[in-house]
Amino acid sequence: MKQLLRFMGSAVMAVMLSLGVMPLAGAHEPGAHVHGLATLEVAIDGAAVQISLDSPLDNLLGFEHAPRNEKERQSVKAMALKLHQADTLFVLTPAAQCRLESARLESAVLAPGLLAPASDSGKSSDTPRADSSDVHAELAATWHFQCAVPQALQGVEVRLFQQFSGLKRIDAAVAGPKGQSSAKLSPKSTRLKW
Ligand SMILES: [Zn+2]
Repeated sequence: MKQLLRFMGSAVMAVMLSLGVMPLAGAHEPGAHVHGLATLEVAIDGAAVQISLDSPLDNLLGFEHAPRNEKERQSVKAMALKLHQADTLFVLTPAAQCRLESARLESAVLAPGLLAPASDSGKSSDTPRADSSDVHAELAATWHFQCAVPQALQGVEVRLFQQFSGLKRIDAAVAGPKGQSSAKLSPKSTRLKW
């Protein structure tokens, strides 16, 4: 009887360990996929500013698969349109006179044609790159700005929260002229300074 109890005890421990410890370890890995959370990297190099966003698609779109109907197709296009209008998403210090040079959007489950700027969305590249149902998916976006008066550049106001209500928090990292820093952004705290 004692041995049986001891056996049951260790079996329960094993179950608790496998249930409790494993998911925790996964959640703390860098780049873990958590809905509501995104990461932003800002790199300033002289007159050039590069901003990169990595986000679960759910934050931006409300679903994480290739569009299955016209309504979902339109949602993807509307999201892409907003992300291409980076001047309204990121307000760099006005005196620095920064101009958006390029924007690139990528997602494993969305066809490149759907993510292209409205002007050159050809039918040719409209086929999904992968069809993965019931799997999480992310979007990676990179914007390049060029500033006419880089010495005036002091920070950026991030307006992603206004455009995407699924976004609750952004872990931001800045690599700028004064070194590296990090900040947590939320709808109530949207400014990055460097
Ligand atoms: Zn997800």
